[in-house]
Amino acid sequence: MEQVKQVQVTCPSCGQPTYITVEPADIGEDFIEDCANCCSPIHIQVTELDDGEWSVQVDGDDEQLY
Ligand SMILES: [Zn+2]
Repeated sequence: MEQVKQVQVTCPSCGQPTYITVEPADIGEDFIEDCANCCSPIHIQVTELDDGEWSVQVDGDDEQLY
């Protein structure tokens, strides 16, 4: 069941969809990905749900507005 998924998330800074790659090792972790559109850091948290689906939550990592 070790697999890598591409997950579409919405950048909290620019509102554009961007794709991130999530690995099983990322479950329970949080990390930063740079948005492909605006290069802002996106704070990503990955959790595994009871049914085995992965839940990806995003937050803006900083409070600056551009
Ligand atoms: Zn962005």
